[in-house]
Amino acid sequence: MKICWYTQEQREEAQLGAVVDGRVYDVSAALQALPPARYPALPGDLLLANLDLVRVAINQLLPGAASIPVERARFLSPVANPGKIIGVPVNYADHVAEANADQATFTDRYKGEVREQGLFLKAASSLVGPSEGVALRFRQRLSHHEMELGVVIGKTAAKVSVEEALDYVAGYAIALDMTVRGPEDRSLRKSVDSYAVLGPWLVTADAVGDAQKLDIRLAVNGEVRQQANTAEMIIGIAEQIAWASSYYTLYPGDIIMSGTCAGVGQVLPGDVMECEIAGIGAMRVDVRAAQD
Ligand code: MN
Repeated sequence: MKICWYTQEQREEAQLGAVVDGRVYDVSAALQALPPARYPALPGDLLLANLDLVRVAINQLLPGAASIPVERARFLSPVANPGKIIGVPVNYADHVAEANADQATFTDRYKGEVREQGLFLKAASSLVGPSEGVALRFRQRLSHHEMELGVVIGKTAAKVSVEEALDYVAGYAIALDMTVRGPEDRSLRKSVDSYAVLGPWLVTADAVGDAQKLDIRLAVNGEVRQQANTAEMIIGIAEQIAWASSYYTLYPGDIIMSGTCAGVGQVLPGDVMECEIAGIGAMRVDVRAAQD
């Protein structure tokens, strides 16, 4: 199942959608399956924590639901309220090589591949959906695209084993880990508002199958810049989950951006990023200058 948040017009209230055969069905009434919100809230995204109930409700609603073509939907992040966004740095050998070869851009602060560097966190406030676009800040500095497979956690995971780790995945989406290059800590440079893009929808894990065999591709203004297969990851998704959960508990709605391949590069206002992952879909993300 493909689940999304979308609007038809800017500033409209978001609707919950299910995507089937090129159309987005309004299944917002499935939110009635959620337990009432309470305060203090439980950790995690309420919808992802109750995804099984919501899926049953969506299936009941679909036959009678109104729909629009995918092209007319403005997609927001398929996770509305993530607790945290985890980044996996230098997780493809060809990206390790390009980073090591250009220390003026990538700095010599960070050395080696992912096992030596460890995971990082991006602020949850940086998250947007593809229709919202990326708003560039610090124009005198380099802002790079990093095209990645996004992994969305569906169940609370603490100290899980590699063997069990994939049981905790709700689904997958296309992710952009936008980055300001420079010497500061990653948690600052990668947390600018709109520098985490997730979309266009969440594909539930059962519909993806083996997420470690997906072709990923990013083009800017029609020119392909990044192309790889998720089989090339240095540490795979299961190991990422086990490793992260050995340090901190993962909650439903937490997002892992699982690393980027070679070909990262600068984007400028007016650029259009087209991202595609086989078995998930495609999304277009416009780049603009942030309002001063
Ligand atoms: Mn990245």
